[in-house]
Amino acid sequence: MTTTTADLLARRAAHVAPSLSIHYQGNPIHVARGAGQYLYGVDGTRYLDCINNVALVGHSHPRVVSAVARQMAQINTNTRFLYEPLVDYAEALTSLLPAPLDVCYFVNSGSEANELALRLARAHTRRRGVLVLDHAYHGNTTSLVDISPYKFNGPGGEGRQSHVQIAPAPDTYRGPHRGTDAAQRYADDVQAALLRGDATGKPVGLFIAEPILGCAGQVEPPPGYLAAAFNHARAAGAVVAADEVQVGFGRVGTHMWGFELHGVTPDIVTMGKPIGNGFPLGAVVTTSEIAASFNNGMEYFNTFGGNPVACAAGLAVLDVLAEERLAEHVVAVSEHLVNGFRHLATKHEVIGDIRGRGLFLGVDLVTNRDSSEPATELATHLVGALREQGLLVSTEGPGHNVLKLKPPLPFTESDADELLEAIDRALVQ
Ligand code: PMP
Repeated sequence: MTTTTADLLARRAAHVAPSLSIHYQGNPIHVARGAGQYLYGVDGTRYLDCINNVALVGHSHPRVVSAVARQMAQINTNTRFLYEPLVDYAEALTSLLPAPLDVCYFVNSGSEANELALRLARAHTRRRGVLVLDHAYHGNTTSLVDISPYKFNGPGGEGRQSHVQIAPAPDTYRGPHRGTDAAQRYADDVQAALLRGDATGKPVGLFIAEPILGCAGQVEPPPGYLAAAFNHARAAGAVVAADEVQVGFGRVGTHMWGFELHGVTPDIVTMGKPIGNGFPLGAVVTTSEIAASFNNGMEYFNTFGGNPVACAAGLAVLDVLAEERLAEHVVAVSEHLVNGFRHLATKHEVIGDIRGRGLFLGVDLVTNRDSSEPATELATHLVGALREQGLLVSTEGPGHNVLKLKPPLPFTESDADELLEAIDRALVQ
């Protein structure tokens, strides 16, 4: 029996939690399958997918699919048994990280990874306070909503808790500091927030940040900022964590990890989304020193974390990244796409800023280049117009005016041209 899209929507509304949203409300995409950088609707429509960063090496990549199927047919159990994929994957993952990041924890999502980062930092520093950047999102658990200004200051949020401090997002396009000394001034803001400490005046134990800020509007910190901010945090006795859930695993092209763009080495790295190409998997990698502090007698057990099937998915993703030389591909296609947007910006005043790295880009739409007033309505209109042409993009940022591009990495130059031409046409109208 085939279910119509309208039927399916009604059935979903009846029994699936209403706090879940849906893309293109009123006209959702009823997906049948995905391949590479494309999604296919049940009616056969092909969509160029610029929003699913989870499908890093391409939707339903055959290599990942067969690795998962093979392992599932063989054995799937938990880390209290000994099996190769866990150790193979821990070796493979740590070989991609700089020293002293050499101890892995495996979990099932980005939220579980960040939740564990909170516990590691707390065990190591014996402090509860956390410093985050404004508009950040770090996950869906109670503790993570409390450190996510995007949520606690957003609709339904309950505001900032006293153990949390916020420093401004280091936005050199629209934020308070924009000149050549912006990195220094934003780092000074971090220092000021560190001095405020938690509610009791105790210094914070953890500074966590994304190397390129997603929810703040694809904001790329200015050179030198993260190094100075990390120095301040460490000098105050905190540990520093890079949330690589969005930008890790080669998405930035030139590097495997976003933090490498800034020449820093965090104490904790958290990973999720693309790590298993859609198979639920997350990871935390830290130093043996922090791992030793956490090894205090209380076992860390996670029923599904590190299961052989998830590890097989993770291993297959790393193999595909290397074999298909996706990092080099990302650098080339990104340059082509960014140049295309720069050209569009010469024709369309509404394009105020083009930023990001690799295939993690933001195109900031403004009503006026002098005031950089967010062109929210136009951005919403553009997302709808592009969808009608089979191109999936979304918006990001506090003003919901930044076109967010984070397609599966196989995205090609001809896909980029298709997208650029459609945006050109839509902006002319
Ligand atoms: N950190 C960042 C930066 C994220 O973008 C997200 C998810 N959007 C998370 C953590 C949480 O990951 P998950 O949804 O897998 O729990």
